[in-house]
Amino acid sequence: MNDTPSFSRDTRIFVAGHRGMVGSAIVRRLEAGGYRTILTRTHRELDLIRQDQVEAFFAAEKPEAVFLAAAKVGGIQANNTYRAQFIYENTMIQSNVIDAAWRNGVQRLVFLGSSCIYPRDCPQPIREEYLLTGPLEQTNEPYALAKILGIKMCENYNRQYGTAYLSVMPTNLYGPNDNYDLATSHVLPALIRKAHEAKLSGATSLEVWGTGKPLREFLHVDDMADACVFLMENDVREGLFNVGAGTDLTIAELARLVCRVVGLDATIVFDSGKPDGTPRKLLDVSRLKAMGWTAKIPLEQGIRDVYAEYVRCCRP
Ligand code: GDP
Repeated sequence: MNDTPSFSRDTRIFVAGHRGMVGSAIVRRLEAGGYRTILTRTHRELDLIRQDQVEAFFAAEKPEAVFLAAAKVGGIQANNTYRAQFIYENTMIQSNVIDAAWRNGVQRLVFLGSSCIYPRDCPQPIREEYLLTGPLEQTNEPYALAKILGIKMCENYNRQYGTAYLSVMPTNLYGPNDNYDLATSHVLPALIRKAHEAKLSGATSLEVWGTGKPLREFLHVDDMADACVFLMENDVREGLFNVGAGTDLTIAELARLVCRVVGLDATIVFDSGKPDGTPRKLLDVSRLKAMGWTAKIPLEQGIRDVYAEYVRCCRP
């Protein structure tokens, strides 16, 4: 496959997982960029866990580029509870899509991973080279292992078949279409919901899981989508790219920031019965920065936008 078509406004682009937070952001970014043919399928129309369905879709629709944003995702408790589903469903979805893409002549693909693929205790900020240099964090090991497999599939399909499949590793993401179910969500939407409900009910305390000491980095999903399209537009053909904001804060600091945005005056109560997870996972983003891409949406502004949307769309 050496006669690679470029990534242009006329490319037939399949966004897998377009109803999710990342996939929907990629669709918004592509539409804003004037891309004319964006293929999407709902879960009901195409079950990506089923190899026969995925192969039939690729054979019929012949996409030329793929953004693989479909995945089973969730916060620390969901990852730790639905461990079998996280390893099985993610492995199946990405294996089916990557292999069907290659079989049907797709030259360009961006695979969405996660910063949890890196060893639990690796030096900070985390460089792409630290992959597979140590043991993983236990709470999300099944998800991380599936994602590592996806990265290695892209790398090895490129080596054997000459494809141009690359992987992006986002830090913790937030934005429109996030999951606000407290049992399965990530920390930021959970805190927004809890703080909002506490404000409405006049509560004077806000419950935060763990010790509040872990450090996390947060990136608005519109920045993430922009980075994915940037790599395609700049004809990047292989490799692993961290995508982050470049700074982190403690969960306790995040809780105080959310309280400020929501307008809640409350005491923060830490529930040490819940796990902390990885102590820190700040990504080193110098690889993308050297190519000319940096995140643009400041955290407080991003949380204000998301909270306004939450109040408008989701809640009383
Ligand atoms: P992680 O980055 O994979 O650990 O995923 P999360 O976003 O679910 O959790 C990040 C950190 O926030 C962990 O230390 C959690 O214990 C902590 N945290 C505090 N309160 C909450 C909450 O209400 N929900 C979630 N999901 N995490 C919380």
